[in-house]
Amino acid sequence: MTIRSLNELIHSGLAAESDRQGLGPVVEQFAVTLSDEVTAILAKVPAEDLPHDPIARQYIPRAAELEPDPLAVDDPIGDARFTPIKGLTHRYPDRVLLKPLEVCAVYCRFCFRRETINQGESPLNETELQTIYDYLAARPKIWEVILSGGDPLLLSPRRMAKIVARLAAIPHIGVLRIHTRIPVVEPSLITDDLIAALKSRLPVFVLLHSNHPREFTEAAVAAIARLVDAGIPMLGQSVLLRGINDSAEVLTALFRRMIELRIKPHYLHHTDLTAGTAEFRTDIGDGIALLRSLRGKVSGLCHPHYMIEIPGGAGKIPLTYPWAKPLADGSGQWLIESPDGLVYDYPLQG
Ligand SMILES: *Cc1c(COP(=O)(O)O)cnc(C)c1O
Ligand code: SF4
Repeated sequence: MTIRSLNELIHSGLAAESDRQGLGPVVEQFAVTLSDEVTAILAKVPAEDLPHDPIARQYIPRAAELEPDPLAVDDPIGDARFTPIKGLTHRYPDRVLLKPLEVCAVYCRFCFRRETINQGESPLNETELQTIYDYLAARPKIWEVILSGGDPLLLSPRRMAKIVARLAAIPHIGVLRIHTRIPVVEPSLITDDLIAALKSRLPVFVLLHSNHPREFTEAAVAAIARLVDAGIPMLGQSVLLRGINDSAEVLTALFRRMIELRIKPHYLHHTDLTAGTAEFRTDIGDGIALLRSLRGKVSGLCHPHYMIEIPGGAGKIPLTYPWAKPLADGSGQWLIESPDGLVYDYPLQG
């Protein structure tokens, strides 16, 4: 069952009747959407566990979302400055985000696009898409197009095939990337027709957004296998979320699960400063220490880059543990820490 309102949330037992008044204003501002697959996962969770359940917390609204949020900024990743035309974000020289629609199969409470997702905005029409193709065709430095949104895998196979064909016809475009949550939240949409629609001269990389190992249901596992078996490489992106996946145990399980399904963990995003998401934020130092704690213990395949976005549009920046430090004495000597925490000086070169 798909849930799109507070009423449906209460009727399915995912919110209490006594929450109605408190949540009313929240859902007026921030939509509610839970897909079939997510609802099925939550149907197995006892009501008393819902407030702390790592899947439930990603989607079920809370009154705290309207509390004053002094750290919040309006455009937490600074996209607005880099939107030359509707539906296109061009921040980096060699790649652009193309957002064909502002619709998702779920509505994630922590999302930095929560102000625009599932608020009734229509998908880009043919004229708007044509303006984007003209923009891309006129700029030979653009090598990669990233379909984002919204969730681009909600497009019908017919519309997807058209977009892919138009992009493949631009000779300097070398790769197409798709950011999506569909394989885990609405796996039934990963049909043969959709996969066929992704075929063109362009390699397609699918970046799956998943935050918890329990998201990989039987149907999700099958949908991912259909994509990878079709020759589509998959990478994982996750958001570090307080109380949901900010522990070595959960992250290890999440990244191992991805690898087992042939998905390479790629980015772990630091939660940004979107209004109403304070309950999910983690400390940068804790995040770096958490990832550092996996080094040496967990297969190198499982380590994503931990990334932060600076408000104002400086872009994505890796938060890396300083394993190597130059000695301050100007000798050119480096001190290097091992995963066991021992510090070695590395012999001078040359
Ligand atoms: C995140 C993002 C990209 C992709 O950056 P990568 O580091 O290549 O994943 C491109 N454009 C915009 C505007 C982005 O926000
Ligand atoms: S854009 Fe991604 S994170 Fe945001 S609501 Fe849609 S599926 Fe969730």
